Amino acid sequence: MLNPFEKLNCPPKVEDLIKIVLGRLPKISGNTIKDREIRRLIYYDEQVKRYLNFVNSFPRIDNLHPFYKEALEITAGKSIDNIKICLSIINKTSLTASSILKRYINEIRKSDETLANKLMRQAFGRVSSLLRKRKDCIDWIIDLTKNMKKMKSIDPEMPTVIIAGSPNVGKSTLVSKISSAKPEIANYPFTTKEIHVGHFDINGIKVQVIDTPGILDRPMKERNQIERKAINAIKNLNGIIVFLFDISQQSLYSPKEQFDLLREILEFNKNAIIALNKIDSKDEKLYAEVSKMLRENSLNFMEISAENNIGIDDLKEEIKKRVLEMVKQ
Ligand code: GDP
Repeated sequence: MLNPFEKLNCPPKVEDLIKIVLGRLPKISGNTIKDREIRRLIYYDEQVKRYLNFVNSFPRIDNLHPFYKEALEITAGKSIDNIKICLSIINKTSLTASSILKRYINEIRKSDETLANKLMRQAFGRVSSLLRKRKDCIDWIIDLTKNMKKMKSIDPEMPTVIIAGSPNVGKSTLVSKISSAKPEIANYPFTTKEIHVGHFDINGIKVQVIDTPGILDRPMKERNQIERKAINAIKNLNGIIVFLFDISQQSLYSPKEQFDLLREILEFNKNAIIALNKIDSKDEKLYAEVSKMLRENSLNFMEISAENNIGIDDLKEEIKKRVLEMVKQ
């Protein structure tokens, strides 16, 4: 299953739509004045229907894969209910606008030729002010959709290897080492931050590898949008976690901060491979502390250097084993 928003067509925002109509009206002609004004309103109706088509083709929120449903909510920064309310407002507004336009079209048909232009302008004014009254909702859902469309490369049904860990531990370096091609860069909605998505094959099974933007060890409600998206991937993708510790002298986070994050991630997804990265420039004290914490909690770990290709083949073998086990289930 691909991103359900990818193919959704976005209509113009309210002011842009009105501008399109205003720009077009003088170019519409007819055999009579009445005919011309009717054609103008029919054109406006066609434009208004773009909102109706948009709402009708919007993915059914309740049928979305949990990954996309949660991504939608995080991107929106408001609840799913708010999104549903807005969608139904857009639906109602476009139906009402259409019926106003139809009513005026009928009136023009029955009216005197001299009144036709006045009626057309009245209809234009009424419909434009109706759309403007609902502008906040309409424009917001359009922006939200544009951002969701950017999430193009993540397939929630595909087995996924999710590289997680604190910022700067070497996640994107590892993605480029374990996935075949140079990783594609996919935009994550509403942020300037990107996540890397790479692919590789295990016995003909296509696997995607993503690095989650660095997550800090802090309560969920204090987490920013980027971190919440990373947690969403960990929770809702069909995935194996590769959790990286940085045990080098350059490590930015203490053993406890890194370990607490691991503990939280394990609550969401227990299928995790733990790797101590940057083994080529290890800080002995840090290494001893991290490995002690892991042993005390009966957690196995591997030692790697993503940058210098140390332990990468073993890590790949372990990933392969886990993917095959996961696919069998
Ligand atoms: P991310 O923020 O977790 O994605 O981390 P990056 O992959 O961007 O790496 C952060 C820094 O760590 C970069 O300067 C990398 O060159 C460096 N780095 C990554 N892996 C290793 C490694 O195995 N050894 C050493 N010494 N540095 C590494």
